[in-house]
Amino acid sequence: MVENYYQKEIETMSHEQIKAHQDSLIGKQIKHVYENVPYYKNLMDKKGVKPEDIKSTADLHKLPFLTKSDLREAYPYGLLAKPLSECVRIHSTSGTTGKRVIAFYTQHDIDIWEDCCARAIMAAGGTKEDVVQVCYGYGLFTGGSGFHGGSHKVGSLTLPMSSGNTERQIQFMMDLNSTILCCTPSYAAYIGETLKEMGYTADNIPLKAGIFGAEPWTEEMRRDIEKTLGIKAYDIYGLTEMCGPGVAFECSAQNGMHINEDHFIAEIIDPDTGEVLPEGSKGELVFTCLDKEAFPLIRYRTRDICVLTREKCSCGRTHVKMLKPTGRSDDMLIIRGVNVFPSQIETVLLEQGYTPNYRIEVDRENNSDTLDIFVELSSEQFSDTVREIAAKEKALASAMKTTLGINPKMHLVPPKSIARSEGKAVRVVDKRKLH
Ligand code: ADP
Ligand code: ZN
Repeated sequence: MVENYYQKEIETMSHEQIKAHQDSLIGKQIKHVYENVPYYKNLMDKKGVKPEDIKSTADLHKLPFLTKSDLREAYPYGLLAKPLSECVRIHSTSGTTGKRVIAFYTQHDIDIWEDCCARAIMAAGGTKEDVVQVCYGYGLFTGGSGFHGGSHKVGSLTLPMSSGNTERQIQFMMDLNSTILCCTPSYAAYIGETLKEMGYTADNIPLKAGIFGAEPWTEEMRRDIEKTLGIKAYDIYGLTEMCGPGVAFECSAQNGMHINEDHFIAEIIDPDTGEVLPEGSKGELVFTCLDKEAFPLIRYRTRDICVLTREKCSCGRTHVKMLKPTGRSDDMLIIRGVNVFPSQIETVLLEQGYTPNYRIEVDRENNSDTLDIFVELSSEQFSDTVREIAAKEKALASAMKTTLGINPKMHLVPPKSIARSEGKAVRVVDKRKLH
């Protein structure tokens, strides 16, 4: 396959060129933030660092971090670096982990964001001949508008469906020949399930690729979706604080996402000490916006845990890759002293032939943590006898024990008893936090 690029010169420039580009921008950006964002100036002053101290990316480590709580404290305008009259858009986080955070954009910021999304669409094989069906939510959430703008930049025919009304999504997909689907992986799985229920198979739909992100998903889930929809499924990563989707995107190699390093500098730090870790280490991802104007966050701690790699990529792109985040540091559950990521549970379920429709409940009884996993059976599996189901629950609990190190209580539940997601799936209920 001939590799498809949106901005080939930028996407394939040498590491030295990327570094020189970053070095040429960082000083100016820090000066812009220092002069226009009193909140960050104050953090820099407290740390005793001045804009003149930041001459290249090698000086980045001198700068203070920003966290989500800074964003909440500075809400709504405290981190704004441009007059509102120069801003053209506001977006907000989904509020998955608490109070929403809002971000501002100038037209320049929108432009670079849409370029990032266009790169992702072209990396997934998109061209102006394609029909891009955007089923991420439109509105304050960045998913819809980001892909919408990116698809326009590629010149694809854009279908701004937003999420929901799944049968209609499939109908439009067939009637209008959608070739690229953009939504959360959990919604893609739901679309696949609905397709089957409508009596169709992958052969009945014209899709060739999907670009799925905004939430963690496993390799097993990727294979499942690829099979059900008959497509290649690409991962995409982003967060509202940086712009939205497109901060990093997958290429034909499908093993890690290239971070758009001409706009964002990525670091991996030890989440406990804040120390910068060498390439290849697993840690918290931290981003610095190099050329955003209105909401240029510096050393923003994402709380997403992943690994960066500069290994040569077969697609020809040179920007650093982030491996699939295992989830946010705050998604990690500590159950009876053991660290458990929901993604580990998803992997076991799919490996054992179950549906990706599950719910994890954590609670505390008699001073001990409990872990209950509810997994929906497919209608074929549901016809088993009670005894067969009990045996399956036992086998699944033991497979979980091997992976997680603790014994969960498994509940195999009837088809359709777990709510489906049209956006970001909420799969964990930690009742310990409610007591
Ligand atoms: P919220 O923080 O309220 O969910 P956002 O919609 O901005 O707001 O979501 C950004 C977060 O979504 C990221 O920090 C990350 O945790 C998660 N995310 C986005 N894309 C991916 C992806 N491809 N894989 C795993 N997690 C992702
Ligand atoms: Zn690549």
